[in-house]
Amino acid sequence: MKLLEYEAKQIFSEYGIPVPKGALIRAPEEAAAHLPETGGAVVLKAQVDVGGRGKAGGVLFADAKTAVDTARELFAREIKGIPVREVLIEERLAIEHEYYVSIAVDRSSRQPAVLFADAGGVEIESAASAVRKVIVSPLLRDIPPFLMRELLGGAPKVLAPVINRLYRVFQEKDAMLAEVNPLVTTPQGVYAADAKLIVDDNALARQGIAVNRDLSEREREAEKHGFSYVELDGTIGVIGNGAGLTMSTLDLIEFYNGRAANFLDVGGGADQERVMHAVRLVASMPDVSVIVVNLLGGITRCDEVAKGIIAAGVAPTVIVRMAGTNEAEGRQLLGEHGYRMLESMDAAVRAAMEVAP
Ligand code: GDP
Ligand code: MN
Repeated sequence: MKLLEYEAKQIFSEYGIPVPKGALIRAPEEAAAHLPETGGAVVLKAQVDVGGRGKAGGVLFADAKTAVDTARELFAREIKGIPVREVLIEERLAIEHEYYVSIAVDRSSRQPAVLFADAGGVEIESAASAVRKVIVSPLLRDIPPFLMRELLGGAPKVLAPVINRLYRVFQEKDAMLAEVNPLVTTPQGVYAADAKLIVDDNALARQGIAVNRDLSEREREAEKHGFSYVELDGTIGVIGNGAGLTMSTLDLIEFYNGRAANFLDVGGGADQERVMHAVRLVASMPDVSVIVVNLLGGITRCDEVAKGIIAAGVAPTVIVRMAGTNEAEGRQLLGEHGYRMLESMDAAVRAAMEVAP
């Protein structure tokens, strides 16, 4: 689950990483109460979960006189289609240099990888060639000095303790990604001017996070029933049992130039009730006009599946391909209720294509 900048900065600060003084506001007028005592310059930052926020107009500069008006302007904006409901107002740093640092899980070595670049900031993507990378054993509490030297190259040594603290955040918060871009030097010292933290979804309970905000209501419903469920952007709903059979169904839809709306694996031994929830869940996606149910009856019984489909009673057309245990009973039940059951998954997908080309 992705944390917003102000949440990540709160955590960074608890770990001793210096962050600018700031406050979260939910209305423009609140800016007035959070101006620096010195009357100095501020930065207003939309708390929206999008990349390239600054370039998209989500970061504005102001001073004591213009802060409320500038906040009003920011609250009225949409950043890449997302309305601004929360703004972080911070003292503006006198930036001398912007660096880039991130820690993520390196898939090939299955260990944390620390990336560092001398030229951080909003143009980081185009500076990819200048990025240095070291792999650190997760058994170590700190990045060993020889690796830190390799990482920093000629960059100032004062960055090292901050990067080590970020490494500790990464480990203790079960992060998938901990990123500071830019990590800046100022006459007052080093600061994390921006902050990004993604917590591993499998570690939310351990981290005391009760609700995964990144999931849609449907994805949460799927999690509750234990379905493997992924939303895509097509029109053909898919329900299968087993990841392989479900993926093959998606492949076949792709082969016939159709667009699948989702991946849903009901798992083994699904009973009537589970099938009903699965069908209702997929049918509730607004773009779905047809659902392909592709199941192999082993411990899953085809008559149970048929009863589940009938009990769901949804508006989109349901096309079924089932084979195996109690196939004849399933076929009869479906037939009595006017559902189509086809001999092969190929035929089922082609039939679905006629409904949702
Ligand atoms: P992002 O676009 O979502 O990554 O937003 P950032 O928080 O990284 O801000 C974008 C850019 O705004 C940074 O790369 C900085 O150049 C600039 N910026 C952000 N905060 C400050 C600040 O306190 N002082 C100054 N001078 N520039 C800032
Ligand atoms: Mn940034």
